[in-house]
Amino acid sequence: MPPKTRTASKIQPVHREFGGIPGSFVLITTLPWLVIFLMTAASNGSIPFDGPGLKALLEDTYSHVYTSILDIAAYKAYVCWWTGLAMMRVIIPCRKFDGLPNRDGSVLTYNLNALTSLIILCIVLTLRGFATSWQLPELQFLYDHLFGMAIAAIFFSIAQAVWVYLYSFRSSKPLLAAGGDTGSVIYDFYIGRELNPMIGSFELKVFNELRPGLILWIMINLAMCHHQFIAYGKVSSGLILVTLMEGFYVLESLYNEDKVLSTMDVVSDGFGFMLSFGDLALVPFTYSLQAQFLTDRPEIELSFFEIAAIAALQAIGYIIFRKTNSQKDWFRHLTPAERKASGYKFIKSPTGRSLLADGWWGYSRHINYFGDWLMAWSWCLAAGVSGLKSRVCLFYVIYFAVLLIHRERRDDEKCANQHKQAWTEYKKLVPWRIIPYVY
Ligand code: NDP
Repeated sequence: MPPKTRTASKIQPVHREFGGIPGSFVLITTLPWLVIFLMTAASNGSIPFDGPGLKALLEDTYSHVYTSILDIAAYKAYVCWWTGLAMMRVIIPCRKFDGLPNRDGSVLTYNLNALTSLIILCIVLTLRGFATSWQLPELQFLYDHLFGMAIAAIFFSIAQAVWVYLYSFRSSKPLLAAGGDTGSVIYDFYIGRELNPMIGSFELKVFNELRPGLILWIMINLAMCHHQFIAYGKVSSGLILVTLMEGFYVLESLYNEDKVLSTMDVVSDGFGFMLSFGDLALVPFTYSLQAQFLTDRPEIELSFFEIAAIAALQAIGYIIFRKTNSQKDWFRHLTPAERKASGYKFIKSPTGRSLLADGWWGYSRHINYFGDWLMAWSWCLAAGVSGLKSRVCLFYVIYFAVLLIHRERRDDEKCANQHKQAWTEYKKLVPWRIIPYVY
């Protein structure tokens, strides 16, 4: 699709997602507050529904912002974190992997070594643990400066989004994201104007997607376990379980780093506020809400039956998530002859990329989202009944449902435009969007 010009936008209304310019403005201005609000609720223990309770929570949120906004140590630590990971990406030996061809035919080669970076960090942390009798100052710092780190991550993500937006206007005319060049400063800043901003040969989008945020999420969970151990002499079953389950999810994502190259974020979305803020601030500081809630509530314990049921739910979710994504990946790499010989039902598309209408992809059109959502449930349930009653620990599962429903609709529209009649045929064969026979 050719980039839209200002002249074209006057003749034809430009299609904008997320509620267009007003929607993007609201998201840009409220999401940073939401992160601090939720963290405050996790620390206080609940999101009250009554007026005075909510007012008190909002006052606490402002108070956290005022006391942490000048936490210079946190800003320094955050910048070291981001740049340290960037340096690891450059220095550590890596696998080279080609991304999918862009719409102008160009192909980016990525340096993949996220898992090695995580392993090195874990080894360093373990050695530090032995050296300090498991009183790790780094993890204690993260607990003590959690709000400062969140504010630093928010500012860093905004600064990065401003920079990539301005940089996208450079004279060498970089490849813009289809849909990221509508002519509105607010909307284009939000959705991301340039498809793959680079600093020299350093690619920013996939780096942000997998490292500073995802790994920090795990570090925050570990910091919450460490704090509970130091302060209360134990780590509760729910906190261990949620740390293990989310740790597994991140480890698995980093192990399958190449798989991210075919996701919507990488293939079609530009890099702007949405991804910069989402990757750096929203993911680590709100996906870890369960651990933040549990750390100072050591009395919350799960029974053996609860642990087994939650672990089973995570396992079922994971199997669906991984099998579905791998099956699509496998199918997409088959030659036309192999596709025919596979025995799987598929639909030929004018794009040349056939649609699998069988196996997992015969149950629903985004069965992979269902698996991911089941895992989200298991993480929320690990906070126990009190966690669910607090409403804070339910945030992730509700937010994720909204994200996946919206994402499915965006993808549906994109696929309808690309695959034309083939997509209509696929929708007839597989009518369910995410959950078979339900939605
Ligand atoms: P998908 O991996 O589902 O990719 C969608 C693309 O796959 C479509 O645009 C189309 O691309 C292709 N496709 C769709 N249907 C078929 C089919 N039947 N046969 C072959 N190809 C098909 O989407 P996402 O990038 O949204 O998600 C990737 C994973 O990341 C998911 O498991 C999701 O749950 C997870 N995720 C997790 C998030 C989190 O915060 N934890 C956030 C977002 C996603 P094409 O144009 O090539 O045809």
